[in-house]
Amino acid sequence: MSDCCCNDAHQKKHTCPVCRNEGSEVSARTITHHIKDAWAWQASAHRYFFCDDPTCEIVYFGDDGSTILKSQLRTCIGVKELSDNTPLCYCFGVTKADFRANPATRDFVIAQTKTGLCSCETSNPSGRCCLKDVPKS
Ligand SMILES: [Zn+2]
Repeated sequence: MSDCCCNDAHQKKHTCPVCRNEGSEVSARTITHHIKDAWAWQASAHRYFFCDDPTCEIVYFGDDGSTILKSQLRTCIGVKELSDNTPLCYCFGVTKADFRANPATRDFVIAQTKTGLCSCETSNPSGRCCLKDVPKS
């Protein structure tokens, strides 16, 4: 059994219109938790995807060609930032620096995930389990 809390709903892929990488599907619910001025955002696409390419400015893109940039979010996207103070785990606030100083933070995240205390779908801007971004060793 996997440690991860992800389910099959996030397995669908689509190509980013800018960097041409494959993005995984993300729910409008996830986007609403991270976009600036969420009250002003209207989902225009049927489905949305998350681009995790570190160099791409696009964070979310829709199947209608619409895009949401890094600068339009209120959340710092860990996979797109070099800073050590960006989060690996958004549910419990584990940063890259925290993990480097104390790799046991990964075990903590696994334990929380196993007991269902994580909130990756809304807390992590990728909508996927934070453990996907926490290095294995
Ligand atoms: Zn991209």
